Amino acid sequence: MEIPCLPSGNERGRWKVGNDSGMERTDTKVKKKVALVTGASRGIGRAIALRFAKEGYHLVINCAHREEELLKVQQEIVRERVSCVTVLGDVGKMADCERMFGMVKEQYGTLDVLVNNAGIDSIGLLQDMSASDWDRVIRTNLTSVFNCCRLAIPLMLAAGSGRIINISSVWGNVGASCEVAYSAAKGGVNALTRALAKELAPGNIQVNAVACGAIDTEMNRWMNEEERSQLVDEIPVGRLGTAGEVADFVYHLGCQGAYLTGQVIRLDGGWI
Ligand code: NDP
Repeated sequence: MEIPCLPSGNERGRWKVGNDSGMERTDTKVKKKVALVTGASRGIGRAIALRFAKEGYHLVINCAHREEELLKVQQEIVRERVSCVTVLGDVGKMADCERMFGMVKEQYGTLDVLVNNAGIDSIGLLQDMSASDWDRVIRTNLTSVFNCCRLAIPLMLAAGSGRIINISSVWGNVGASCEVAYSAAKGGVNALTRALAKELAPGNIQVNAVACGAIDTEMNRWMNEEERSQLVDEIPVGRLGTAGEVADFVYHLGCQGAYLTGQVIRLDGGWI
């Protein structure tokens, strides 16, 4: 069964933003589609959230630190005449995720699409990495995916359908020198995606991952001009990807039917 990408016109705009928590109920019989995007205060997560909002989805958006930026994204989303709930919390912590999913249940009672996007990078030699930094990278990039999937699955099973899309990295496929913890975490995300897809296919829940190449976001701003142009030289398409390109792809992936599941799809301009 395919989830239609576009809710019909009369399903849109019947929830309105009334307060910081995002909305005020105006019609309890509204049939709505809901997407949750973690790490949506900027970059790829922000672009994905806006893309789903443009298509009429109600949104739950999250980040851990930059509340002001998250609230700006909320304002952009509600201009699309959909509602948006913001939740500040660390997705690497189960307690924070339980609070976030508590709000999903309370405000919407359902979840159609979960995008596990929140992530952090860490550059340096493994031999210099502290145990606490290792733990932070694994928790933020991998444990977060377990936490959110664990809490989304009962809602999706109850609804009889769902889409889980994990934002991964080409380094999870091939590994990167000086990004060992990040590569290990994203490799874990890829394996989780393939295994969970098998577990959830009978429940009509599709699980896929997008393994991004170099995307032009704050995560890559540490590079100087020379490093950036060396990187661009390695990418056949001749440039970094944009957050909007990832968002478009993620949205269309979320529209695919049941047979597309368990895939880790590279989006890297032909780089790796
Ligand atoms: P950004 O650094 O621009 O954004 C990261 C987002 O994640 C922010 O919203 C940040 O918000 C949030 N975040 C970080 N830690 C947590 C946490 N513990 N809990 C909740 N939210 C958190 O990165 P990108 O947009 O570039 O990256 C998005 C995803 O794409 C990541 O998973 C990344 O690994 C992946 N990716 C990116 C690539 C790139 O080249 N940019 C390449 C391959 C994959 P805040 O700081 O306020 O908490």
